[in-house]
Amino acid sequence: EQRLRQAKRILRKFANDCATPVSKLWNVANDLCSNMEAGLSSEESQLGMLVSYIEPLPTGEEKGIYYGINLRGTNFLLIRGRLGGKNLPISELQREEVAIPSSAMDGDSTEELFDLIAVELAKFISVHSEIDGEAESRERKLGFTISFPVEEDAVSSGTAIKWRSLSVNDIVGKELTNDINQALEKLGIDLRVFALVNDTTGDLAGGRYYNKENVAAITLGMATDVSYVESAEQVPKSAWPITQFGRNEFDASLDTESSNPGSRMFEKLISGMYLGEIARRVLLKMAQETALFGDWVPPKLTTPYLLRSPDMAAMHQDTSEDFETVDEKLNEIFGINNSTPMAREIVAEVCDVVAERGARLVGAGIVGIVKNLGRIANKKSVITIEGGLYEHYRVFRNYLHSSVWEVLGSDLSDNVIIENCHGGSGAGSIFLAASQTYNA
Ligand code: ADP
Repeated sequence: EQRLRQAKRILRKFANDCATPVSKLWNVANDLCSNMEAGLSSEESQLGMLVSYIEPLPTGEEKGIYYGINLRGTNFLLIRGRLGGKNLPISELQREEVAIPSSAMDGDSTEELFDLIAVELAKFISVHSEIDGEAESRERKLGFTISFPVEEDAVSSGTAIKWRSLSVNDIVGKELTNDINQALEKLGIDLRVFALVNDTTGDLAGGRYYNKENVAAITLGMATDVSYVESAEQVPKSAWPITQFGRNEFDASLDTESSNPGSRMFEKLISGMYLGEIARRVLLKMAQETALFGDWVPPKLTTPYLLRSPDMAAMHQDTSEDFETVDEKLNEIFGINNSTPMAREIVAEVCDVVAERGARLVGAGIVGIVKNLGRIANKKSVITIEGGLYEHYRVFRNYLHSSVWEVLGSDLSDNVIIENCHGGSGAGSIFLAASQTYNA
């Protein structure tokens, strides 16, 4: 009993530290808004902002069959789809995932990787080419998007660092674009890459095809990214915020022990990669100080990143009377097989606190972006969201929506429309290809 009370005390303090009242969310939104301005005017901003010049964005009139590539940490997607114009949805969508052998991702040369991409693309096109007989007379562009790898080993390789810090207008980006095009030319493929663009920017292009009021796209998966439209005269540099949002001991130790202490702090509160890890740290403290799981600290509970967000979501969303899913997951992940229903309830509540805070901060971030664009009061803004965290974690998604509603109030929040990304991860490359080919 005494132990349970102690565990509940830790839970209450944690919940209190993580509280996100509307006033605090406004601080985050305002902070982000001014950080975005600073991000454009100097290199000092805490946002890692990169500019992509991708004029024109789709108008919704684009028609035809287009190809795209989405390069990810350890694989790439080849994508093909038909746009019908008049904002008609993408159809005949085909995608194929190709694993990248580690030899092609390591080292400084990208030749092996690009040759592999060209060969696989040639195969992919030939499989579908009969249907594509209607080839456009004009030169066709190939959309190429990059999802920044988050796996540590991928990030530490020379090539991945290049990818990560890539911006379309810089020299590295131009060189890489040339290299890819050479690899395509060697194989006689008559498609050319015009730019390397972050996948989230591809989602923004996709959002634009469907709705000209689409002003931003957000990726909420393992990692978090934002892409928004800035008028050309405002530009020089971008992605997602950092704010001085109060951190608790668990956030602090997670950051200190991470591979990039002090950076991407906002992301460490909201991304799929970190949510489960925050919860694990709280549960570990409870196990150590209150014997939440009996007189032992389950050894696996001390393993960083063992609790992944899909499992956290499953425990969080367990509605059974005795928290049977929590019981199963605790057993499966941490080897805990003697949890009491009370302990399981506390586990579910810890997950709730972590998810609620993360989702509400994303909501505040959305308000900050819309405010920065000067659209809060009188213009409709469509925000496209892509990523497993948003798509599969129902309670997270609900918290996100309700925080936007709470922060803006019911009237203004009608102006902010949040939509799931069309076509899934990587499909943005097709819309980019279309806008560059069709409107060029
Ligand atoms: P990535 O971000 O790795 O490119 P996704 O956009 O598919 O790929 O997102 C995958 C991430 O989404 C997972 O790592 C996880 O953090 C999160 N996720 C996926 N499914 C769920 C789920 N059911 N519940 C909670 N989070 C999930």
